[in-house]
Amino acid sequence: MDLHAALKKYFGFTKFKGLQEDVITNVLAGNDAFVIMPTGGGKSLCYQLPAIMQEGTAIVVSPLIALMKNQVDAIRGVSSEHGIAHVLNSSLNKTEVKQVMEDITNGVTKLLYVAPESLTKEDYINFLQTVKLSFVAVDEAHCISEWGHDFRPEYRNLKSIIGRLDDNIPIIGLTATATPKVQEDIIKNLGMSDAKVFKASFNRPNLFYEVRPKTINVDADIIRFVKQNQGKSGIIYCLSRKRVEELAQVLQVNGVSAVPYHAGFDAKTRSKYQDMFLMEDVDVVVATIAFGMGIDKPDVRFVVHHDIPKSIESYYQETGRAGRDGGEGHCLAYYSYKDVEKLEKFMSGKPVAEQEVGNALLQEIVAYAETSMSRRKFILHYFGEEFDAVKGEGAEMDDNAKNPKPKEEAKEDVVKLLKVVKGTMEKFKTKEIVKALVGQTNALITSHKTNEKDFFGIGDDKEEPFWMALTRQVLVAGLLKKEIEQYGVLHVTKMGHAYIDSPKSFMMTKDHVYSPENDDAIVT
Ligand code: ADP
Repeated sequence: MDLHAALKKYFGFTKFKGLQEDVITNVLAGNDAFVIMPTGGGKSLCYQLPAIMQEGTAIVVSPLIALMKNQVDAIRGVSSEHGIAHVLNSSLNKTEVKQVMEDITNGVTKLLYVAPESLTKEDYINFLQTVKLSFVAVDEAHCISEWGHDFRPEYRNLKSIIGRLDDNIPIIGLTATATPKVQEDIIKNLGMSDAKVFKASFNRPNLFYEVRPKTINVDADIIRFVKQNQGKSGIIYCLSRKRVEELAQVLQVNGVSAVPYHAGFDAKTRSKYQDMFLMEDVDVVVATIAFGMGIDKPDVRFVVHHDIPKSIESYYQETGRAGRDGGEGHCLAYYSYKDVEKLEKFMSGKPVAEQEVGNALLQEIVAYAETSMSRRKFILHYFGEEFDAVKGEGAEMDDNAKNPKPKEEAKEDVVKLLKVVKGTMEKFKTKEIVKALVGQTNALITSHKTNEKDFFGIGDDKEEPFWMALTRQVLVAGLLKKEIEQYGVLHVTKMGHAYIDSPKSFMMTKDHVYSPENDDAIVT
């Protein structure tokens, strides 16, 4: 059957979305594929349609039972045939497992959803070795990487299990995580270096990004914001369950229809509040990040972060729930350096390697919050994507674009910065580079004898925040690169070396400077 006819027949759609057709053609040809699309991009269809069209059963590895159930129900709903998608997991009883196995053997099951831990069961492996399989789709493939926002160690064993099922079986990895580091981990761990990569743009031009400094009266500011958006659906994320409950109450008292949501409520209460939000019985849900995975409400009009999230990755995922229908979506985050310190404290009990990863990710979101350049450009740069902050789609959609900060020529300072990174043999992270520029020492600097170098202190006419801000902007401009694997060590890029030899004008945007001392300033 022709691809378009199959799309129409099984899903009722008349056109493919984005890269879907290319991916599906590639899968049907029996090749590995790596699909990177933002949430809502239409990833599921990339494996569902070829699974239905091919002989045998496709295995879909997915981390969450609840999500799997949604997917299976959805595909039952759209398909004209019945019972072509099944789940194999610990919630099934013996009879049910037997039934699923029979359906697979008889070629009825086209899609078999399994959790990674179920796939490690010898019984299942032995069984799956005896049946005809079409391909393996690894959904939420970022779970394989500790640099992703949802690392799951079980994902690390997938490659060897897949190999036991069939050495030559095509693999499709799918994720909405676009950071180059996570992508590299996925390709390495799934052994798919030959896979064709299909990457969609992560730009969400209809989302408006805004950061406000956290004032002592952030609740009042949130109430004002919600009232300005009266009647619209929105999510407000808080870090702690306690804050969720308090804020939901404050909103209710102020006449906003809101419900709280966090993992501390029992399942019944959670699903009640979730349904109230989905059915629009209430406008606002105040929640911890437990809320949102797999929730598809197309007309969420705002996502507010009462506290800064732990990474740009999480922020992108969480704000991605706004404006899925293409309409307006306001993403507002409150930022205070105190919250960052709180997050650092949370991590302090964890293993050292995990802490270092966590801190490196946290520094990125701090940089996002503090930047005065285009927030969209900043996010997309983080995801390895170029964005034209003047002409790009959605370029005008952020606070910094609306209220541009003054710019100043920083050509000479850029050269100084690059020279210090080069001169310190590319061993330091931003913090040490900035110290070397302003001429301050710490243990690391003295141990490398950086304080004896002639460039030590060449930037002492400026303060540390200036150099931090410049470093962020020079990174985004591509003259420096941050080695995430080395937790943020800076390197001069080829473009950076060329810049040292023949510097050009570099218009630096004056950054916001937040310090713990002026955190409590009230801003209206
Ligand atoms: P993702 O997994 O990438 O977040 P989904 O697979 O859930 O995205 O798809 C997002 C939405 O887009 C779903 O509601 C889905 O039904 C819809 N969709 C997918 N492909 C198409 C298409 N070709 N035409 C119209 N709608 C589509």
